[in-house]
Amino acid sequence: MGEQGESAFKILFTEEQIKNKIIELGMQITRDYKGENLTVIGILKGAFIFAADLIRQINIPVAVDFIAVSSYGSATKSSGEVKIIKDLDISVKGRHLLLVEDIVDTGLTLKYLLENLKSREPASIKTCVLLDKPQARKVEVPIDYRGFTVDNVFVVGYGLDYDQKYRNLPYIAYLE
Ligand code: 5GP
Repeated sequence: MGEQGESAFKILFTEEQIKNKIIELGMQITRDYKGENLTVIGILKGAFIFAADLIRQINIPVAVDFIAVSSYGSATKSSGEVKIIKDLDISVKGRHLLLVEDIVDTGLTLKYLLENLKSREPASIKTCVLLDKPQARKVEVPIDYRGFTVDNVFVVGYGLDYDQKYRNLPYIAYLE
């Protein structure tokens, strides 16, 4: 094992499984958006690695931007109060948006962002989520492209942190 205390981690999805899933998602998105002006919006920080890998599997011209949010509350619990701490750089009016998120837990973050972005009058808006934790849902949110479904455990790796650590693990794991 390495130097990050990974011996306590149980691997849920390997680097290879994640890669294959992203190839599938990229193919679907490519097919669905052919001929459209697609803008991918990554939600920072958790989705930065997923967004970077996903766009390289999308085989049409694509614009990319990022939005950073913080949710008040403890490190592992979402309070539902979301604040935009870095807004988009570009105007999304009239564009087809694909919101890329690492994980949907309660659904509150995605719901807030969907409402916020809809008010900017995009042509359409869809969501692409690497991990879905349906058991934790408090509000319904549409997930148009889904990577994996996970149980109600706290996961780290592949962009997801615990106390800002473990984002650099190439796999997704949970702490036993
Ligand atoms: P929601 O608003 O859906 O409850 O939570 C969304 C955010 O909470 C995610 O973007 C992520 O930052 C964080 N989150 C939820 N579940 C997990 C988890 O299992 N692991 C990590 N690292 N973050 C999580």
